[in-house]
Amino acid sequence: MKITEHIANAKGKTLFSFELLPPIKGSNLQGIFNAIDPLMEFNPPFIDVTSSREDHLYKEHASGLLEKVTFRKRPGTVAVCAAIMNKYKVDAVPHLICGGFTKEETEYALIDLQFLGIDNVLVLRGDARKGDAGFVPTPGGHCYATELLEQVTNMNNGIYLHEYQDTSFKTDFCIGVAAYPEKHFEAPNLKTDFKYLKQKVAGGAEFIVTQMFFDNSKYKEFVTQCRENGINIPIIPGLKPLTTAKQLINLPKIFHIDIPEDLSDAVQACKTDKDVKEVGIEWMINQCKELVEFGAPVLHFYTMGNAEPTKRIAQEIF
Ligand code: FAD
Repeated sequence: MKITEHIANAKGKTLFSFELLPPIKGSNLQGIFNAIDPLMEFNPPFIDVTSSREDHLYKEHASGLLEKVTFRKRPGTVAVCAAIMNKYKVDAVPHLICGGFTKEETEYALIDLQFLGIDNVLVLRGDARKGDAGFVPTPGGHCYATELLEQVTNMNNGIYLHEYQDTSFKTDFCIGVAAYPEKHFEAPNLKTDFKYLKQKVAGGAEFIVTQMFFDNSKYKEFVTQCRENGINIPIIPGLKPLTTAKQLINLPKIFHIDIPEDLSDAVQACKTDKDVKEVGIEWMINQCKELVEFGAPVLHFYTMGNAEPTKRIAQEIF
């Protein structure tokens, strides 16, 4: 079922969902199932599966020479989605990214997804490769989420990359996009970032999932600004419980978000990461209670494969 239908059917009740990473290449699916099982009691109508592009790594030979190796650490987004749908009978939402894929490869992936009965996709540009100074588009691929979104929308209308294809085969994806309550780090200002978000909505996006945030006022202001800008689709808050002291440095560095002073003070007063996890869970429970009151359509957790903190939060909310 489409995410927009799940939200409409909930009639204002906040839903629970979460995101997983495909297992590292070569490992099996059991880790994914172990990360899902404890969360099924909260009835997620959908589960997201991330996608990653190839990375450049340097392998050191005995001679001391460095060999540049290119490989994708976590392939298998489509297969993991199929496995989740098959085992749990919930909607799996694959993330589709521009980086690492040509337009043809994307077209084939979308056809596979349609065959598998997948109804939703989250369309993104994708992160830069490790070691690259910024995002480098793949030759023959897309540069921005707006372009990838156009390809998916075209396929929903039976328009393919090559004219000779049978246009009676139309996909029917409900398309989501990402947004950043604290601004995308490359955007010169929030207004410009909004301009492109509006383009994504005009291009066919039907729901938004936000970057994580630890200060609800950022989300509330963002929702207000969206509504003032004529963006009226559901805005799903992305949430990550803080679990280690190191994340005080890593999360702002990687995700370009702020951590409120009260939270960072509380974390810095902790003696161990066990104590930090308790602080992070309590903070997130309070955030979630307020978001439910505010009318967030879904609370969407970035679990990173660790179900326990999310389970403890969900037990207090759902
Ligand atoms: P875009 O919408 O393309 O925006 C990128 C930047 O370019 C922004 O600064 C924007 O303002 C600007 N811009 C947009 N359109 C144009 C245009 N037409 N011309 C000029 N400038 C433009 N990354 C992964 O690799 N895999 C994942 O699975 C993944 N999942 C994610 C899930 C969520 C909910 C979120 C919030 C992020 C996720 N990311 C993932 C990270 C994401 O790929 C990065 O944040 C990336 O840097 C931007 O992606 P985007 O889709 O927002 O890009």
